[in-house]
Amino acid sequence: MTISEHFTLKELSFSEAAARLGLDNTPGRIVVANLALVAAAMEKIRTLLGDRPIAVHSGYRSAEVNRAVGGVVTSAHCHGLACDFVCPAFGTPAEVALAILKSDIEYDQLILEYGWVHVGLAQVGLLSRREALTKRSKLAAYESGIRS
Ligand SMILES: [Zn+2]
Repeated sequence: MTISEHFTLKELSFSEAAARLGLDNTPGRIVVANLALVAAAMEKIRTLLGDRPIAVHSGYRSAEVNRAVGGVVTSAHCHGLACDFVCPAFGTPAEVALAILKSDIEYDQLILEYGWVHVGLAQVGLLSRREALTKRSKLAAYESGIRS
């Protein structure tokens, strides 16, 4: 099921960890609606990055899957409101994050993580914080701004 021109529900709700551990990661109706918002934001990002292919690492994560991967309890991924991705044809995750930072694309959180970029959207009806952070490793604290 395609939920935007270049993104499918399957890739935005696929979880390698869920597949490996046999956990359910089927999105419910609200999550599917949220993932459509994420797909729309990802289309804008794709255009910003010169229409180059984007590889999604992680979108929706059920609470169970999120626990299994050690995700933050309040993670936007659990609501289907976040996407971790790379766009190697455009550049490094730092270059991708900086391009988004400089754009007028709306996001709640933009995080340069250790190997990918996280874009999170605000829950419907809430204002986007437009917060930019860097996380250099799994155990590192979040630093403010995009720092390569
Ligand atoms: Zn993420």
